This record gives sequence, C-alpha cells and structure tokens, in this order.
Amino acid sequence: MNSYDELLAAITPTSGPSRDVFDPATAERIGTAPVHDASMLAAAVDAAHAAQPGWAALDDQARRDALHRAADAVEAAAEPLALLLSREQGKPLNGPNARFEVGACAAWLRATAATDVPVEVVVDDGTDYAELHYRPIGLVAAITPWNWPMMIAIWQIAPALRMGNAVIAKPSEHTPLSGLALISVLNQVLPAGVLQAVAGDGALGAAMVADPAFGKIMFTGSTATGKKIISSSAENVARLTLELGGNDAGIVLPDVDPAAIAQDLFWGAFINTGQTCAALKRLYVHDDVYDAVVDALGEVASAMPMGVGTDENNVLGPLQNRMQWEIVDRLVEEAKADGGRVVVGGNPDREARGNFYPTTLIADLPSDSALVVEEQFGPALPIVRYSDVEEAIALANALDVGLGASVWSADRERAREVATRLEAGTVWINSHGGVHPFIPFGGVKKSGYGLEFGVEGLKSVAVPQVING
Ligand code: NDP
Repeated sequence: MNSYDELLAAITPTSGPSRDVFDPATAERIGTAPVHDASMLAAAVDAAHAAQPGWAALDDQARRDALHRAADAVEAAAEPLALLLSREQGKPLNGPNARFEVGACAAWLRATAATDVPVEVVVDDGTDYAELHYRPIGLVAAITPWNWPMMIAIWQIAPALRMGNAVIAKPSEHTPLSGLALISVLNQVLPAGVLQAVAGDGALGAAMVADPAFGKIMFTGSTATGKKIISSSAENVARLTLELGGNDAGIVLPDVDPAAIAQDLFWGAFINTGQTCAALKRLYVHDDVYDAVVDALGEVASAMPMGVGTDENNVLGPLQNRMQWEIVDRLVEEAKADGGRVVVGGNPDREARGNFYPTTLIADLPSDSALVVEEQFGPALPIVRYSDVEEAIALANALDVGLGASVWSADRERAREVATRLEAGTVWINSHGGVHPFIPFGGVKKSGYGLEFGVEGLKSVAVPQVING
C-alpha cells in the first residue's frame, strides 16, 4: 500500500457510526472517520491485554528493532501521510509543517529506539547493594490534540511501546484521520494489539481516563481538560504525563542585532501558524531596539505566504478549526481596543470559506492586554515594550503557566543569567520552541507535569522497581 487513496481506504469505516471530516482551508469534505463508543474501547482494551505480555517479554533489542521498522514504514508512506495531514490539519506541505512533521515521526521513532535505559546500581558499598530497574506499566492511554496530530501521537506512542507497554491512542475529534492513518501505517509492522486507536470526542477520552485498565495517561491539550484528567485519574491512581500548553514569553535584550534575529523570532512564534504549545506567544522588547525589532519582524512576517496547504508556495495555513479562529479574532479585536498598533495583518476576511486568519503583529500593547495574558494559539503575536530587564522578567513570570520561554541577546552568558530566573520548563537562547528527542521537555506551573523525550521520557512510561540485595 501507500498511495494516498489506499491510506485513506485503510482507515475509512465500512460499518458503524461515522462522520465526515472537512479541509479547514477549503471546507471540502476529505474523508470519513469512525465514531467509536465504549464497547469499541472495551474491545481494544481486551486486545491490548492479550498482546501486552508477549510484547513486554520480548527482549529490549526486539522492541528497538520494531521501532526502526515502524520508522521505515512511516518513511515509505511519508508523502501520502503528509498530504492527508495537510488536508485535515491545514498546515502546508512545505516549511516547518506537514512533511517536517512526518519526518519528525520517523526521527522520533529511531531516537526512541536508540535511547538506553540502563539498570542503575544505586548503592554498592560492600554492605548494601541495590539496583533500580524500569518495568512496563501495562496499558498506556495516548490522548492527543489537533495541532501536531501525528508528531505528538508519536511522542506518546514510541516511548510507551519501547518500554514494553501496549498503547491505545485517541486522536482529537478535529483531526481523527491523521492519527488513524499514522497508526494504520505503524501497524503494518507492529504485532497485532500492541497499538490501537479509538476515534471519538472528549467523552471517549473521559471514558479512557476513567478506565482502570490504563496504568498511565499521556495527555497533551488544554489546561482545562488536564485538570479533569487529574481528578478522574485519582480513582485509579493512574500515572500522568500532562503537557498543557502555555503562553511562552520571549525577552529581547538591548544588545541584539534586530535584522539577524527577526527570522528566528518569526518562526518561534508562527510555526504551524502559531498553533504550537511551545510557540513564542508574547514578546517583550527593550526600548533601545524596540522599533528596529518591530520593523524587522514586520518585514519577515509580510513576506511569508499563507494559503491552502497543498500549494507548495505556502508556509502558513489556516487555523485548524473555527473555535480557534474565534479565539484569535476576539483577542486581536480586544488588543486593538486596548490601543495596540497593528503592524501587520489584523484584518481577517470574515466571509472566506477557510479558517484563514492573517499573520498579525500587534505592537505597543499594555502588558495586561488579553492578547498578552491569554493563550492565542494562532498567528497573532503581541509585542510589549520594556525599559528594565527586571520588569520584563517579572512580566514573563507573572502568568500561571510555564512551558517555554526565550532570551535573545548577543551575550550568551547574560542571556543564561536571565534564563535561570524564568519560570518555564525550557528556556531557549536565541531561538524558541525547538525540541529534540534526546532533550527532556515538560512544563512547570499549570503547563503540566512529567517529562517527555530522552531517558527521562522513557522512564516516565515505566514503573521503577528496586531490587535490593
Ligand atoms: P482539549 O484539551 O479539549 O483536547 C485535547 C484532547 O483531549 C483531545 O483528544 C480531546 O478530545 C481530549 N479530551 C477532551 N475532553 C477530555 C476529557 N474530559 N478527558 C479526556 N480527554 C479529553 O483541547 P482543545 O482541542 O479543545 O483545544 C482547546 C485549547 O487547548 C486550545 O485553544 C489551546 O489553547 C489548547 N491546546 C493546547 C495544545 C497543546 O499542544 N498543549 C494543543 C491543542 C490545544 P476531542 O478533541 O476529541 O474532544
């Protein structure tokens, strides 16, 4: 298999409840998704229970090999996967978008296969001897959002499988086809039952979280849903990794070269058309370079083509859904009312068929404007002027979320000093939002808890066991 039509056919339901899925750029129907219910979830849990002991009993190398074969399968299906992702999510094929996302899935599978989780000898002093091992949990739930529907799924699935667990994944109701297609491709090479998908809405997600079969819930999405998952997991004492997004600050120090950083600032904020958990969502710029940074950023932003994702020229696309479009629109309108200066954009075509919101920069905003303090999750960046770095640090830390942050400076040591004072799980210097499969990633405050990636990520989908003696 592996043509686009074959990929779609493999996930199109032939019986049972289903619903149509539409392209957010054109409003055209692109396919049909199943709508699974509690009985389908129960069947998936039974199949996972049957498959997991055999998977866990394989030696580690066999699971590493399986992840490499899964990466091969993703690479063999890369172009049809990217096309489906582009049509369903809206992100363009080109730029750091659909092809990039599919490539990252293969890369993450391989990196997860390559990461060692050695047995740790924690005490060996001649009297006492103890080792720390990491054992499979059993069954892991992988609940994902609509912004990076393949890559975030792989972030949850790959480590869970590597550590000997079975996984049941639930894609977002906004992007079910992307998740189902990816899992169908992975299942071309994985043993039956170790990885399954159920498609449905938040109620199905809630049913998964309430099901005592799951020893671990991997969740990426909103803080509101994360709080519900925390409550629900209490009953089963299920382990949680929660990546709940944020409102990342970037602080530009007075010594930067504005033209040199403008491109990286832009992509830090506008990657995936701003629909990224760890995107730069509010920018604080020192007085000395404020006008030059705003101008340089405006120049870059104006030159970036936005449009239908399947047009190879575009690097920015529509918002994935109308709900998110409405949020961005409201925040920009409030920013204008607060006295914000529209540098670029801010003038959506409200009658257009697709969910396009133009690339928007709003400067001269008061630091308490809603566009600054609420997460926009779209292509509208607020820019706030500051004159004292202490003030910028205080503003960056003032919110109750802390996924990422960035500091921009020609002086790396000065930037590192500022970085240590920011309340965020990751602070980037002279970039924003880049993730790496060997570098742990996770939030502080209401951005969630638990680490993904690297050896810490693998340990988080396992249970520790001490062998003492
Ligand atoms: P949600 O948190 O509602 O959805 C994320 C996932 O959780 C989806 O698969 C969803 O299912 C599922 N879900 C919903 N309710 C429950 C529940 N009670 N128990 C278990 N799972 C559940 O995010 P939204 O898609 O509604 O987006 C809302 C906001 O979240 C955005 O505006 C943005 O600010 C933020 N967000 C953050 C992301 C991130 O990367 N951290 C990604 C996406 C959004 P379903 O969608 O099918 O209802």
